[in-house]
Amino acid sequence: MPASTTVRGIVLSAMPVGEYDKRLVILTLEYGRITAFAKGARNPNSALLACSSPLAFGEFTLYVGRRSYSVISADIKNYFSELRGDFEGFCYAMYFCEICDYMSKENNDEKDILKLLYQTLRALTKKTIEFPLIKVVFELKMMTYNGMAPQVFHCVKCENNSYQKASEFASASGLSSPIYFSIKTGGILCSGCRMNDKSSIRINTSTLYTMQYIISREIEKLYTFKVTSQVLNELEICMKRYLQCYIDHEFKSAEMLKTL
Ligand SMILES: [Zn+2]
Repeated sequence: MPASTTVRGIVLSAMPVGEYDKRLVILTLEYGRITAFAKGARNPNSALLACSSPLAFGEFTLYVGRRSYSVISADIKNYFSELRGDFEGFCYAMYFCEICDYMSKENNDEKDILKLLYQTLRALTKKTIEFPLIKVVFELKMMTYNGMAPQVFHCVKCENNSYQKASEFASASGLSSPIYFSIKTGGILCSGCRMNDKSSIRINTSTLYTMQYIISREIEKLYTFKVTSQVLNELEICMKRYLQCYIDHEFKSAEMLKTL
């Protein structure tokens, strides 16, 4: 590896180290999630002060040491400064960064996760979509990229009930064939198979369709729609329990979101 390298990425967290330095976790295009030290970054006159805070997005030139990276310089393209003056938006941003930190690895291809985080932060700054909807979209897409998406295109048990076209299914079946979201079996159950998981959650066809959309569409299309409060409520219940079951990790920033 060369003595220095330039990477593109977003700072996920910045922790003070000693009296003058900071330890940054950066999600990069080139090397996945890395840790880099910003020497002297706590000094108010340091050239590294501005790049050494969470959400800073741009190019970082790093010295490649034997055991760690050190930031030499940075060219920041976006600080997401709108979010620094918006307490609620900033709390959501910190939550998304913490999940990215937890779910990504060094020397892994995390391009999709980086792109997802960037578009999600942009959605927070635009404020055209309510934050709780941004949260569930992010969570479900994140699970998808980690190969942990629920099966929402057909019944997990019988596989005969294809819901590929949820809208057609909805008009054909109406309320007589309800759909259930089963955390335990990792996807949806038709009414016939529902007995396999009595704790499954009954969901609206619009909720099913929204999940299918989030899982299958490209990132650029994710933050372009709105849902009814009933659909949002169902998505929130499903994702909360799904994450509890399959990630089983307490995110510190999630506690903060509960207080908003
Ligand atoms: Zn079934």
